[in-house]
Amino acid sequence: MLTQRPPAFTIPTSCCSEKAPCPTCGKLGQRKGVLNRQIRSIAYDQVVYLDVTYGEYRARCHCCSTFRTLPIGVEFKAHDDNKV
Ligand SMILES: [Zn+2]
Repeated sequence: MLTQRPPAFTIPTSCCSEKAPCPTCGKLGQRKGVLNRQIRSIAYDQVVYLDVTYGEYRARCHCCSTFRTLPIGVEFKAHDDNKV
């Protein structure tokens, strides 16, 4: 095999409970499906990948028809920004 950079560290995270509150009004919505995506982030001065499993929800209110849970990566980044 060719020399390759070692894959950056991957942090598995999940936020896909059966029900989740609407981001606008907080009313619980029912999970419709589970999605998975990798988000690139930076931690400890290096690139890391967050392997995020999150849910897609059907809203029961009129704010929107569907919404998704916020990946933890967002918090992670905010935390990093606070440190800097
Ligand atoms: Zn709502």
